[in-house]
Amino acid sequence: MSLTEIARELLDGLHAQLPESGFRLVGVEVHVGKMVDLDPEHLRAILCSLLPRVEVQVTVVDALLKCKDCGAEYPADEHPCPVCGSPNAELAHGGELQIVRAWGETIEA
Ligand SMILES: [Zn+2]
Repeated sequence: MSLTEIARELLDGLHAQLPESGFRLVGVEVHVGKMVDLDPEHLRAILCSLLPRVEVQVTVVDALLKCKDCGAEYPADEHPCPVCGSPNAELAHGGELQIVRAWGETIEA
């Protein structure tokens, strides 16, 4: 999937949640996990071109693992678990790609 298609898919999901009229989108914030294989600046540029006059914030989320044995969350580069030494972990953060916030203003119909 190209970055443009990814951006369009994100916006389709967003528009489905917004009112159809009486609302003007002013800004969106997107979270991109560090483990997601895409260029955040490039994604931001595409979103800006798809959303003229809308403020686009792209935040890169650090990769965090969650220990399956003791529940601790720790940076991926400290693997295995610095608390209990367990190698059993799952990705808690860093795999996300989503619009986490959208804000706007109501406009006269
Ligand atoms: Zn642990």
